[in-house]
Amino acid sequence: MPSSAPASESLGTGLVVAIDGPSGSGKSSTSRGVAARLGLRYLDTGAMYRGITWWMLREGVDVHDPEAVAARAGDPAIVSGTDPLAPTITVEGVDVAEAIRGEDVTGSVSPVSAVPEVRARLVALQREAIAADGGIVVEGRDIGSVVAPDAPVKVFLTADAAARAVRRAAEEGGSDVSATEASLLARDKIDSGRTVSPLVRADGAVHIDTTPHTLDEVIDLVVALVEAVEAPA
Ligand code: C5P
Repeated sequence: MPSSAPASESLGTGLVVAIDGPSGSGKSSTSRGVAARLGLRYLDTGAMYRGITWWMLREGVDVHDPEAVAARAGDPAIVSGTDPLAPTITVEGVDVAEAIRGEDVTGSVSPVSAVPEVRARLVALQREAIAADGGIVVEGRDIGSVVAPDAPVKVFLTADAAARAVRRAAEEGGSDVSATEASLLARDKIDSGRTVSPLVRADGAVHIDTTPHTLDEVIDLVVALVEAVEAPA
């Protein structure tokens, strides 16, 4: 499998909207909303990192041993469904959509994601999905910087840590807000500090602080960016 072909060769002709940002910044809801509104496909790359982490844990791989993780990075089959209204993810044929949101996966995903072999494997899968027919909204941490640097629309979403924790705790069915905030900040620290593809605002990305906005307002802002690219003045 090609590990990391140059983006310019691997991207398809469809529109690519890259949406990056830290945990709980509103990326998933915004990306799905934009894709649904514009009739585009949707790819949740965080779910892929979570999926491979779920599998490493199931296989008994020590997720804090980068060599052990690297040695198995090529093994599991990971398949993402790209319908924004019903996104799916399977690993080795198992539907893991719920399991990947569990605390065990959330607590282990950042060290697994920091392993270069894991990133090379998943970036290759992501570029395959992007290259398939039709436009796509792709959300993650390194989409505008590494996976699809030529994307015509790049967005970097942020929000205050407290607002992010409140949103994520609600998504998780009312978990403890301060524990959620601590978990978000711990993941942000690893995601921003890692050597390979750290979370950064990509060149050319439009920064939107979602803290004061409703979800619909953020979707409107991103849709306007897409429409500006599709119909230049
Ligand atoms: O987006 P979500 O919070 O589900 O992502 C889970 C984790 O996956 C992140 O904390 C990060 O460690 C990793 N990730 C990544 N690169 C991406 C998407 C997610 O490293 N493009």
